[in-house]
Amino acid sequence: MSPTGANSVSLPSRRYDLHTHSLRSDGTLAPADLVARAHAAGVEVLALTDHDVTDGLAEARAAADRLGITLIAGVEISVSWQGQTLHIVGLNIDVADASLQSGLARLREFRQWRAEEIGRRLAKKRIEGAYEGARRLAKGTIVSRTHFARFLTEQGYVRSPQHAFKQLLSSGKPGHVSGQWATLEEAVRWIRAGGGQAVIAHPARYKLSSGKLQRLLGEFRECGGEAIEVISGSHAPEANQHFARLATEQNFFASAGSDYHGPEKTWMDLGKLPALPQGCIPVWRDWEMKRTLKLNTSVNQQRLSVGAG
Ligand code: AMP
Ligand code: MN
Ligand code: MN
Ligand code: MN
Repeated sequence: MSPTGANSVSLPSRRYDLHTHSLRSDGTLAPADLVARAHAAGVEVLALTDHDVTDGLAEARAAADRLGITLIAGVEISVSWQGQTLHIVGLNIDVADASLQSGLARLREFRQWRAEEIGRRLAKKRIEGAYEGARRLAKGTIVSRTHFARFLTEQGYVRSPQHAFKQLLSSGKPGHVSGQWATLEEAVRWIRAGGGQAVIAHPARYKLSSGKLQRLLGEFRECGGEAIEVISGSHAPEANQHFARLATEQNFFASAGSDYHGPEKTWMDLGKLPALPQGCIPVWRDWEMKRTLKLNTSVNQQRLSVGAG
């Protein structure tokens, strides 16, 4: 569905963070600790969106229920598109959907092979034991470039994880292995299979030309993609404004997420996101409408039963 039509119902404004990571992918907090920290920071609706895996959601759900914060089941899917890697966030996914889970399993298989290959390439640069080191830091979950970056920093090969990306792990550098991730169409299909919404994550980070960006938006919409992450903790403020305009003009829903990975914070802390700019139609509009209707119905039912009693 596209976000046409004026927002005629007045919805409560809650604090949303719809893009975060736990140690089930490359974050550093356990899902329950992430939820507790988000709650303490004033977040009211949180999506856990680990890379290519949904293992953390059950623990996050239990913690969210205990604390009274709304948890949105999410995932961040790695996609190869026109020779580069893009990330598509899925919100309100169905973790029980077989097509989603077999798709994610395929990406994790590639990820495992890629980690070993990164290790082999770094060994050629006389960096020994990188795969084993990254695997140790990943503590039994998926091995991401973030774990390589932490290993390279820990061992003194680079000054910081950012330097590891810049010098060794990003495209064109010795430890880079190009992706064979999902196609855009697959990622959107897996997300939508269980009724979820697909969101283009942190669009400013891809540094696309305006022609290529238009092509991406067109293909994304054709596949059933609905939203753009207009506000990202990894965007500069001008980028937020730029993508807010684009989403409004082209009739995409707008999402907002910190891309939080842990207290060592690469981008932004929890609970610090700016509001969506005027004119944006939030990706949560329809969820909130349903919730408001449900709340009203239950209040009315209580009134009726009190009246009857
Ligand atoms: P992967 O999915 O294994 O290719 O790893 C991608 C992850 O690396 C992203 O989700 C970020 O968390 C992290 N990342 C990518 N680029 C950078 C960077 N320049 N500095 C710090 N972290 C980065
Ligand atoms: Mn990450
Ligand atoms: Mn990402
Ligand atoms: Mn992310």
